[in-house]
Amino acid sequence: MAAHPDDENTNFIAYMANEKLYNTSYLALTRGDGGQNLIGPEIREQLGMIRTQELLQARRTDGGKQFFSRANDFGFSKNPQEVFTIWEKENLLADAVWVIRNVKPDVIVTRFPPDSRAGHGHHSASSILAEEAFDAAADPKRFPEQLKYVQPWQTKRLLWNIGMWGMLNRAEFVKNAKEYLQIDVGSYNAMLGKSYGEISAESRSMHKSQGFGSIGNRGISVEYLQHTKGEKTLTDLFEGVNTSWARVKGGENIETMVQTAIKEYDAAVPDASVSALLKIRTAIEKLPDGFWKTTKLREVNDILKNALGLFLEVTAADYAYTPTDQMTMSVEAINRSAANVTLQKIVFPFKSKDSVLAAPLKNNDGLSFEIKAKIPAQTDISQPYWLRKAIGYKGLFSVDNQLEIGQAENPPVATVLFELTVQGKPLQFDVPVVYKKKDPVIGEVYQPLVVTPPVYANITQEVYMFADEKPRKVTIGIKAGKDNCQGEVTLDIAPGWRTVPQSIPFNLAVKGAEQSVEFQLYPPAASQETQIKALVKVEGKTYDKSFAIISYSHIPAQVFFPTAAAKAVKLDLVKKGNNIAYLMGAGDLIPLSLRQIGYDVTMLEDKDMTLDKLTQFDAVVVGVRAYNTNERMKHYQATLMNYVKDGGNLVIQYNTNMDLVMKDLGPYPFELTRDRITVEGSEVRFIMPSSPVLNSPNKITPEDFDNWVQERGLYFPQKWSPQYEAVISSNDPDGPPLDGGILVAKYGKGSYVYTSLSWFRELPAGVPGAYRVFVNLLSLGK
Ligand SMILES: [Zn+2]
Repeated sequence: MAAHPDDENTNFIAYMANEKLYNTSYLALTRGDGGQNLIGPEIREQLGMIRTQELLQARRTDGGKQFFSRANDFGFSKNPQEVFTIWEKENLLADAVWVIRNVKPDVIVTRFPPDSRAGHGHHSASSILAEEAFDAAADPKRFPEQLKYVQPWQTKRLLWNIGMWGMLNRAEFVKNAKEYLQIDVGSYNAMLGKSYGEISAESRSMHKSQGFGSIGNRGISVEYLQHTKGEKTLTDLFEGVNTSWARVKGGENIETMVQTAIKEYDAAVPDASVSALLKIRTAIEKLPDGFWKTTKLREVNDILKNALGLFLEVTAADYAYTPTDQMTMSVEAINRSAANVTLQKIVFPFKSKDSVLAAPLKNNDGLSFEIKAKIPAQTDISQPYWLRKAIGYKGLFSVDNQLEIGQAENPPVATVLFELTVQGKPLQFDVPVVYKKKDPVIGEVYQPLVVTPPVYANITQEVYMFADEKPRKVTIGIKAGKDNCQGEVTLDIAPGWRTVPQSIPFNLAVKGAEQSVEFQLYPPAASQETQIKALVKVEGKTYDKSFAIISYSHIPAQVFFPTAAAKAVKLDLVKKGNNIAYLMGAGDLIPLSLRQIGYDVTMLEDKDMTLDKLTQFDAVVVGVRAYNTNERMKHYQATLMNYVKDGGNLVIQYNTNMDLVMKDLGPYPFELTRDRITVEGSEVRFIMPSSPVLNSPNKITPEDFDNWVQERGLYFPQKWSPQYEAVISSNDPDGPPLDGGILVAKYGKGSYVYTSLSWFRELPAGVPGAYRVFVNLLSLGK
């Protein structure tokens, strides 16, 4: 149990799942929504969807199972106290208890200590929750509402798998080493032809959006586990736990049957084991209902399917259907064994007619046919279950159905039940309906089946900024989810806003066809922030969803339906100067934001970095982390300083203090630190109230620092020369005041600004106050 996708020890999981053959599960509190994406533009909940699928692929590789809580990864947090002001602790504890009561672990392993040594507040929170859940899961008085589905469960022991984080304190580690349980997880699995270190690397390499491609290692690899709760052991992780069939009442004889079947198994003739497996299956069926019966029936069914070389598949002709659509399904069933198999009946989804076949499946002689089914009108669209309700970017995702909590993803839209007899014994298999296509390069590509609304609307921009009362063009792409899709689109807007025209008709003949429509959106006179939403009326019903698909080769394609909404902001804004030059750093969206409020923005290239060229601009802005990512900055620096000296206005955004390509970023010295202000609502004090930054051309008030997103700023400077004026001060609730958010220095005839506030987050998010302050920075000296 840990906090994020990537916290898990894949070597440990691979060893426990494949060498010890334990049911091994990873409960990640979050889906990693708050991280950065190294492979594409998706952030927040879309990134969480990618990481969910990466974890599932990792588990398919290392043999583990994957669970999540409802916690939304809201980004970096310094300590668990702050974390639990955002994540409702009792609800999160309920999730951990729920997963424990479902999975029934004998042993729980955490990845972090429950204190500040864990570094990230989410990490320590995950271990605090594990310790509390260990007791709460066993207590019928805790979360009794769960007990209509599950029983209380007492886990035998809880240990901390000390990672590199714990190893940092080498002296303490050595001192305590004899108190740790040690497990060599580096052994070689001859049947798989791999060491667990190699499997682990393949699993870890699935975390592609985090750039965690890994190289496998071989040989001894010792994991250290420190006792936390329950019965202590220094010999075996499962000391005192009965892992044999004798654990289940009436299961003793099954142990003997299983041992015999393993002894007599011939890898070249797997179907020779079918009779023995069927007998084992019958014996399991006689056990009392419960966890082990369900688990072991599923396992023996899987083994039987493999021993029979049985291939059962149902594919849909398309990957997306809308309610009331006809879906064509292709069925393929083939038995590749000498066993006597008969396909008795197939039960199709959506109440379509069952096929009673009673068809013998002869060895390697397949059966295939097509069948149509109508998707019922009431079918839910395939929204990921944790995204069905509107989300903020904090707290927990809202999930109404208790049975969905903990699950990695939605169940399949449709499943088909195959009823067979094998050597006269009935056997059933649930098979999900999937979509399959041929990719000319990759070959066979599977994609989950989804149910969509009949029509979607995509607003082309996320944010529309209005610096004056002129209208702006809002373009909406309408796409048909079915044939003969016609209707009209309107924009749902707040009073005071208006569109021309009021509504626009559309007519799309075939499923998948698209049409683009344009509204002129007029803002009100006063400053105001509002949501605009596209409403599409078709056959008397109104739809407000857009369509998004996430497609990468290492995960199954993911479809979801965000609300077709954007933000519109009428600003109270005065600008001085109009021509802005922008030198991009690591990459940010600020140029687009500045164009939205009417600036002419020129992107600077290497050839433009001359004094002659720069002096044409009212201000030059340097993008985030330019001094970390652009080697050429040391060549540009003299020109930039001369530009300021001659009367220019230079605004430099944040850089990290590590990996700087040069030392002095300004005309006078200052030092960068790793200090951040992570609480975006933290109070901002004006320490230089007379500064033009706070007065001209826009009069700044504390309200301008309301409704910021994610954080105030990062890598704040400390210790600057007296030539710099610090304009504002702020701090996290438990942190010291940081005054380096905006530093301004006169140099020659111009102004130099270094600012570590998170403009790159605030401007693209349409935060009005951030625009007003940033425009003041661009207007200095005008
Ligand atoms: Zn983590």
